[in-house]
Amino acid sequence: KDRNPNESEFHQAVKEIFLSLIPVFAKQPKYMEAGILERIVEPERMITFRVPWTDDQGKVHVNRGFRVQFNSAIGPYKGGLRFHPSVNASIIKFLGFEQIFKNSLTGQPIGGGKGGSDFDPKGKSDAEIMRFCQSFMSELGRHIGQDTDVPAGDIGVGGREIGYMFGQYKKMRGAYEAGVLTGKGLGFGGSLARTEATGYGTVYFMQEMLKDKGLQFHGSTVVVSGSGNVSIYAIEKATQLGAKVVACSDSNGYVYDKNGINLDTVKRLKEVERKRLSEYVDAHPEAEYYEGSTGIWSIPCDIALPCATQNEIDEESAKLLVKNNVKAVGEGANMPSTLEAIDVFLNNGVLFGPAKAANAGGVAVSALEMAQNSARIAWSFEEVDAKLHAIMENIYKSSVEAAEEYGHPGNLVVGANIAGFLKVADAMMFQGLV
Ligand code: NDP
Repeated sequence: KDRNPNESEFHQAVKEIFLSLIPVFAKQPKYMEAGILERIVEPERMITFRVPWTDDQGKVHVNRGFRVQFNSAIGPYKGGLRFHPSVNASIIKFLGFEQIFKNSLTGQPIGGGKGGSDFDPKGKSDAEIMRFCQSFMSELGRHIGQDTDVPAGDIGVGGREIGYMFGQYKKMRGAYEAGVLTGKGLGFGGSLARTEATGYGTVYFMQEMLKDKGLQFHGSTVVVSGSGNVSIYAIEKATQLGAKVVACSDSNGYVYDKNGINLDTVKRLKEVERKRLSEYVDAHPEAEYYEGSTGIWSIPCDIALPCATQNEIDEESAKLLVKNNVKAVGEGANMPSTLEAIDVFLNNGVLFGPAKAANAGGVAVSALEMAQNSARIAWSFEEVDAKLHAIMENIYKSSVEAAEEYGHPGNLVVGANIAGFLKVADAMMFQGLV
């Protein structure tokens, strides 16, 4: 904490992982002797830069850009870019740190990185978004490459933003380096099923977890927070599997629809018109809209999928979910539950799928996009979806096995952290002190 003051989110992410690793260090002191912990919490590189841009009135604005290249022991840095006013060094470092272990868990050769800006895309015109993305890439571009660092989307960065950044990068390099970004449009190197991957992957992961306890999505009542990329496709897959998703949210409030959320309306509002969720009730007057996003956790449900942002479930919300008999919680977002909330779930027998494992489907399919770009081929939706499904089953299996082997059966927080850590730590040992 002395070394990284005022970085509470980063401290939280590190604490969760280090607590999980206690049994590893007890069993295998070699990692301690090699200084793996001290090395793994220090990013290999952290880049901060100025992003100047002009709005449609010609007024100059300056935002701050970040890229943390955290760990390249098992592959090129890989992780999304977030555009949101809350972005700062602590947020980027917590996300980058988690990404190391998540990427390792996918079984693919990708290291950990993350980036973004405190730019707020809300209410900006298309032309403003384009100018911002071009300015952002004109600096980031010199630090990335298909074999060094491969960014993707995250909050506030979707296909439109990736397209503008890819165009700027191509112009800077004077070469068509398709694999430098993932989440690209389908016409220029994007992968089918990448848009769906994180949300679908979260549901596939939870499916495995539920199956082990004789439970299923079919017939369950589900609450999904957020209404962005991860949420929309978690809602879609859960609904396809026969669940009824009764609520979703954005940063202003949440919608409760006892008939089940109409996903076409959410997609139109969020993906096409870029509007607020409050307008959902205009199309569905029988639904209810409430101001304030955390109220969503007061709705009784069997399965809760937090898919919006970090620390959206605190201890109080977790207790409310438990009181209302929630059976399983799957983290589609990154670190959506506070450490206290996780304790509430684990101590009350709630099945808990931690983010690193449950939302790894997005980056896994990003790595499949890189593979397709390298081979200059394109797989069908069904092929990518089947690979995603198999990857999520494997992540579940390796997390369960690690939890058992290290004395915490059923605790997937511990299991996922350990399984993700071991591969990276071993690679770091083999590669020496670099
Ligand atoms: P989007 O920008 O597409 O959607 C984010 C959603 O969360 C929006 O509904 C947004 O509402 C809401 N939200 C954002 N910030 C807040 C906040 N402070 N309080 C309440 N609601 C908020 O992002 P994604 O769906 O891509 O990302 C969601 C989460 O999933 C993030 O934690 C991200 O890191 C994680 N994730 C994403 C992956 C991906 O492939 N996209 C991969 C793995 C993890 P509003 O529109 O009002 O801002």
